[in-house]
Amino acid sequence: MHIDARELDNDSIIEGDICIIGAGAAGISIALDWLKTPYKVILLEGGGFEYDDEVQNLYEGKTTGQEYYPLKSARLHYFGGTTGHWGGMCSPLDTIDFKERHWVENSGWPINKQDLDPFYEKANKVLELGPYNYDFSYWNKNLPNLIPFPLNKKVIWNKMWQYSKARFGRLYKKTIVEAKNIHLYTYANAVDIKTESNLSVVNEVIVKDHYGKKHTVKAKHFILACGTIQNARMLLSANSQTPKGLGNENDLVGRYFQEHLEVSSAELWLEKPFQTDLYSWDYGVTKASAELAFTEEVQFKEEILNGTISLQPLSVAKYIKPKLQTWKDGDPRYSLEVMMNDLNNAEEKALKEKGHITYSYQLNTRIEQAPNPNSRVSIVKERDKLGVPRASLNWELTSLEKYSIRRMYQILGQQMGIFNIGRIKLNEFLRDETNNSLLDDTVNGGWHHMGTTRMSINPKKGVVDVNCKVHGISNLFIAGAACFPTSGAPNPTLTLVALSLRLSDYIKKQI
Ligand SMILES: Cc1cc2nc3c(=O)[nH]c(=O)nc-3n(C[C@H](O)[C@H](O)[C@H](O)COP(=O)(O)OP(=O)(O)OC[C@H]3O[C@@H](n4cnc5c(N)ncnc54)[C@H](O)[C@@H]3O)c2cc1C
Repeated sequence: MHIDARELDNDSIIEGDICIIGAGAAGISIALDWLKTPYKVILLEGGGFEYDDEVQNLYEGKTTGQEYYPLKSARLHYFGGTTGHWGGMCSPLDTIDFKERHWVENSGWPINKQDLDPFYEKANKVLELGPYNYDFSYWNKNLPNLIPFPLNKKVIWNKMWQYSKARFGRLYKKTIVEAKNIHLYTYANAVDIKTESNLSVVNEVIVKDHYGKKHTVKAKHFILACGTIQNARMLLSANSQTPKGLGNENDLVGRYFQEHLEVSSAELWLEKPFQTDLYSWDYGVTKASAELAFTEEVQFKEEILNGTISLQPLSVAKYIKPKLQTWKDGDPRYSLEVMMNDLNNAEEKALKEKGHITYSYQLNTRIEQAPNPNSRVSIVKERDKLGVPRASLNWELTSLEKYSIRRMYQILGQQMGIFNIGRIKLNEFLRDETNNSLLDDTVNGGWHHMGTTRMSINPKKGVVDVNCKVHGISNLFIAGAACFPTSGAPNPTLTLVALSLRLSDYIKKQI
């Protein structure tokens, strides 16, 4: 059922069993999990079914620290959320990503990969991917053209990816709108969360539209699914009953913001041409591809972060501008167009010249960021049109990121040499081993926002517990990558959908 909140009488009361705030990948996945149950689910979406600049403006914010994209265009504010233009690259976290590693401060999850496996399987279906199987051998059986570099498997392995074409707004609109027990309210922006006076139970959420109308939503369980930056902003802005904001007694909400660092790091010059289909991705065509990754043993021995390496023909890569240079506009549609044009122009230019396409590749790193309390989302005095304080992002890295990237290529270089596959040439910025700070112009973020309400058993170390419930509040849950304590190397959506389905399952058992 769909209701446009702009058409409700002012001061309406909306009541249900469960209230999900935000209809993006996380929120819609949870709503789908409650289809045809006897429970009334309220799904609040701040935007409509299409892009609306007035709603998108609510995302405007400030950035400091490591250079970042404009906050306004770093996500999408309408039904379907940021999947409206995501890339669809999916792969699960590795077993090591859940472990505490002594060389990565604040690393590790209080759950392990097996706890998520059944939900990863479901998430694969929600994202319309192939089977929940990310083993190279499985894909190689079905796609024999995928040939791996003959490297030492104890050092380097092939991490598989699948590609989703799911744009949640389009894919699930009909199902959600036609569902009898799901009540989707569009143009219903949550602006405040009200609790009992002892802060232990959420009683209601206040929503507003752009025309000054205000409504109250009452439910038994509330799930905040507005995206990593926005979830932290909502908790910090809910400060009328407690000045620090909800769930923030230990000053943890907004801290440990993590992104994936995407860095052009080196060149690979092959000894002789090699069929690199396994390492190539053609959007809409490729079912699965691989990136080079380092085994758990190597990560432990070298004390490095988890990251992967992808290949791009050098003849194309040399024409591509860093994403930070093309994604500059506050309008996400325009920024996307500029970035895609840059990519297409590079491919055209490369086709026109006789390049070294079969011999030389640019090597791109995607690497996790070490959890860092100073990398942080906070709120500022300035408010948006609906009266909510705007977000400020201070993105901050440590020296472990650059150190790890350099070591990854030194190890890959040795391997490529030993097996006579080719030679690696490090990019200039990695060569000075005494310098481990990453300059702005070498690092792009992947628009992967994670970590601002991290999971921990201990309320002094995390905002949510193992079930994504906010510590100290019996009926407030956070859905999405905000709950990741450590981000791992893969893009986050498959994992955040799995985690959201796990949280949904937990509430089902409670209710
Ligand atoms: C260009 C780009 C490419 C990407 N590529 C990939 C990729 O290849 N693979 C991958 O895994 N990830 C990718 N991502 C990231 C991916 O899009 C996000 O991880 C994912 O969409 C996050 O899901 P979410 O539901 O947590 O947040 P979102 O999808 O952002 O959804 C949040 C929802 O909450 C709503 N909302 C916000 N505030 C309020 C409020 N106050 N009240 C009511 N509703 C509200 C929003 O309108 C939105 O619908 C990409 C992102 C971008 C920008």
